[in-house]
Amino acid sequence: MVALQGKGVYGGIAIGTAALYRRGRLEVSTEPACDPAEELARFEAAKQSALSELQGLYDKAVREVGEKDGQIFQIHQMMVEDLDYQDAVINRIQNQKANAAYAVSETSKEISGIFAAMEDEYMRERAADVRDISARLLKFLTGVSAGGIRTEGKCIVCADDLVPSETVQLDKENVLAFATAYGSANSHTAILARTMNIPAVIGLGEEFLREEFEGKTMAVDGFTGRVYLDPDEGTLEELRQKQAEDERKKALLQQLKGKENRTLDGRSVQVYANIGGLDDLNAVLENDAGGIGLFRSEFLYLENSDYPSEEEQFQVYRQAAERMAGKRVIIRTLDIGADKQIGYFGLEPEENPALGYRAIRICLTRKDLFKTQLRAICRASAYGNLAILFPMIISRQELREAKALLKEAQGELRREGTAFDEKMEIGVMIETPASVIISDQLAAEADFFSVGTNDLTQYTLAADRQNPKLEPFCDPHHEAVLRMIQMAAEQAHRHGAWIGICGELGGDLELTEVFLAMGIDELSAAPGRVLPLREKIRSLDLTGREQQILDRALACETEE
Ligand code: PEP
Ligand code: MG
Repeated sequence: MVALQGKGVYGGIAIGTAALYRRGRLEVSTEPACDPAEELARFEAAKQSALSELQGLYDKAVREVGEKDGQIFQIHQMMVEDLDYQDAVINRIQNQKANAAYAVSETSKEISGIFAAMEDEYMRERAADVRDISARLLKFLTGVSAGGIRTEGKCIVCADDLVPSETVQLDKENVLAFATAYGSANSHTAILARTMNIPAVIGLGEEFLREEFEGKTMAVDGFTGRVYLDPDEGTLEELRQKQAEDERKKALLQQLKGKENRTLDGRSVQVYANIGGLDDLNAVLENDAGGIGLFRSEFLYLENSDYPSEEEQFQVYRQAAERMAGKRVIIRTLDIGADKQIGYFGLEPEENPALGYRAIRICLTRKDLFKTQLRAICRASAYGNLAILFPMIISRQELREAKALLKEAQGELRREGTAFDEKMEIGVMIETPASVIISDQLAAEADFFSVGTNDLTQYTLAADRQNPKLEPFCDPHHEAVLRMIQMAAEQAHRHGAWIGICGELGGDLELTEVFLAMGIDELSAAPGRVLPLREKIRSLDLTGREQQILDRALACETEE
C-alpha cells in the first residue's frame, strides 16, 4: 500500500480504479519516411479509425441529446474524407517523403491557416474544425491523444491538474473522484468536484503521477486529503465504514427537503445552486435548491468545437428555465479567458491571463458574439424566471454598454414579434475590488449583485487563485475580502438592489453566520451544499449578536 497526503477540497470517500489523465504533448517527428507506401497505409488506417470513432460519437450524441448536436460529427467525417485535405497529406508523403504524422500535422497547419485568414467569419471558424480532425488522425497515428483517460467504466481520475477544456471532455458519469498532484482549492477541478458531489484531493505532489498507478485500486479520502494506492484490508474496512457514515449523514439531510432556509430567530435567506450545464440540473432539483444562482454559461462554449449558435444556446437556457419551473435561474454571460481557454476563440497567449482579456472585456469587443448570447437568453426568458449576470465588471461604463446591447437585442426581438421577459433582472458580478469601490454606482443601475468570491479573493489579495504555492496567501476568509463583501452588501441595499454570493464562499459553512449578519439575501453553492447550508441556517440564532459576529469576522481572520 502507498499512502499519500494531499489537501481534501471536497469530502467523501471513493474506492475504485486509478485512471491517469494523459495530456498528449504531440511531438510529431520530422524524420523522413523510409517507405512512403507504408506511411500511406498508416494514414489510410488512421482515417478509417477516425471515421468510425466519429460515427460512434455521432450515434451517442443523437441518442443522448438529439440529431442537431450530432451534426458536427457528420461534418467532421466529411472533412476527414475531403479530397483536398487527403491530397495534401498524400502529396507530402509521396513527394516530400514525410512520415504520415508529420504530413497530417503540416497539412493541418496549412489548411487551418488558409481558413483562419478568410474574411468571412463562418469560414474563419472552420480553422478549428481542421485542427480538430487533424488531432483525431494524429491520435491514431501516434497513439497519443489530445487528452483523456484510457480506462473505461467507473474510475478515479488522477492528473496534475485539469483545466475546464479538459474536464468537459470527461464522461462525468464514470468519475468517482479526482486526485491531483497540483491545483488549488479554487481551481476548476475542485469546483467541478463540488458540483458533481464527489471527493477530491489536490496537492499530492509530483510523486503522485506514476505510470504504474494506472489501473490499480485506489481509495480517496476527501475529508482527510489522504489517497491510498492498493489499500490493505484494514484501511479499506476503515474507509468503507467512513463511507457508510457519510451516506447516513447525507440521508439525514434529505429530511430537510421542502423546509425553509430560516434561522431560529426568523431570518430567511435564499439558498441556490451553481451549475455548469444541463447535466447538473438533476442534482439541483434533487437537493431542493431554491433556484440557480450561477449558470456558468461558458461551459456551453467549452463543450463545443465551435461557437454555439443562438438556437443551440436558446434551447439550453430554455430547458434550464422550464425545468426550474418559475424558480430564478441566473445566467452569467460568457466568462472565458484566464483559466478557461477555448481554442476556437483564437485568443493570443498572455503574460498574465488572470489580469488579461477575459469575460465582459471580450464580450464588449466582440459584440456579435455577445449579442448572439443575449438574444438566446432573452428568448429563453419567456419560458421561466431568468435573470442575467455580467461578469468581471470594473466600471459603470461597461455595465452601461452591456445593458445597451441587451436593450438592442430586446428591441430586435420585439420587432420580430418574439416573446421575452421585459422585466428580466440584470445583475453585476462583484469580483474585482473596483466593482466594490464603485458598488454605489453599480447598484444604482442594476437589480442585484452576485459576489464571485473566487476572483474577488485573488484580485483583493493579489494572489493567483490557480497557483498552489500561493494558497497560504489566498485566504478567502481574509478580513479584506469580507469587508469588501460587506461594503457591496451595504451599497446594494442602500440602492434597493439585492445581493447574493455565488463564489465558493457561498457554501462555506464557517461563514454562513457572518453572511447572515451582513444581510446577504442569497447564497449559491454546489448542489450538494444546499442541504448542509439549510441545516446550518436552521441551527443559527443571531439575536443581539450581529455586531459582535461582524466585528470578529471583519477585524481578524476567522481561521485560527
Ligand atoms: C468567482 O469568481 O467567484 C466565480 C463565481 O466565478 P468563476 O469561479 O467562474 O470565475
Ligand atoms: Mg469569477
